[in-house]
Amino acid sequence: MIGRFLTESPMRIATFVHQGKRCVGQVSADGQRLTPFVLTPEQAQGGAQPLIEVAVQGQPLPALQASAVPLSEVQLLAPLPLPRRNVWCVGRNYHAHAKELSASVFKNSNADPQAWPIVFTKVPECVVGPADEVRLPGAAISEQIDYEAELAVVIGQGGKNITQADAMKHVFGYTIVNDVTARDVQMRHQQWDMGKSFDTFCPMGPWLVTADEMDGRKTRVRCWVNGELRQDGPTENMIFDIPTLIETISRGITLYPGDIIATGTPAGVGMGLNPPRYIAAGDVIRVEIDGIGRIENRFV
Ligand code: MG
Repeated sequence: MIGRFLTESPMRIATFVHQGKRCVGQVSADGQRLTPFVLTPEQAQGGAQPLIEVAVQGQPLPALQASAVPLSEVQLLAPLPLPRRNVWCVGRNYHAHAKELSASVFKNSNADPQAWPIVFTKVPECVVGPADEVRLPGAAISEQIDYEAELAVVIGQGGKNITQADAMKHVFGYTIVNDVTARDVQMRHQQWDMGKSFDTFCPMGPWLVTADEMDGRKTRVRCWVNGELRQDGPTENMIFDIPTLIETISRGITLYPGDIIATGTPAGVGMGLNPPRYIAAGDVIRVEIDGIGRIENRFV
């Protein structure tokens, strides 16, 4: 499987700003330095997107610049700062999470939770970086802002009607998202897109880890609110695993390189607590996934 897309060794790819310039770079083994790829400013605007497209065509990645820059001197952006189209998302995909929201978000759902996944999207413009602030929309719009720690799959080779057996060959890599949600708005509109797509409601990062370097089917998703552990779930506990999600979403719909699928959240969201505990201004949410790293965002 190694080298399926990449002619070089597996890697972590970060998008960042250094000295006012957007760059895309390879993260060093210790995570402390970034070596930029040689890209035009236009290419760098797309973050990891041009690298994914080159890799799936079987072409070598752009050359790396001669010198690395320290992580401490850059501002990390989302690896795909403006995804090519809406971020695919999956609802109710961990057993314990489905149970904790069975009296609220999933109350009116007649669907058999074992039959088909719930799929919705977030608009690309709500993506922000791994350390950026998330802006609460104000009490007049929503008073029930919640967090959802999630593993996100980034598609490499596109395709339609992809089978489960072939699905993992279409995974370029993984990153972390916080699928921030306005619960009252989510429930009000039947469709979830509005309550999930407020500006800044998709923190993503800290980088993209190629599929050669980790297996998203066997990792651990955790989330802390102001240092308190709220979510801790292994991705083995997904109701619909990654191959099933790719097969389902590509039924009659072509997936493209750079498409993102957020795979759902484990139990422990604020709405699932008794009483529910929603995010307030000043709260800091940290999401960590083994094999990738962490994102940490202050809500303002
Ligand atoms: Mg979610």
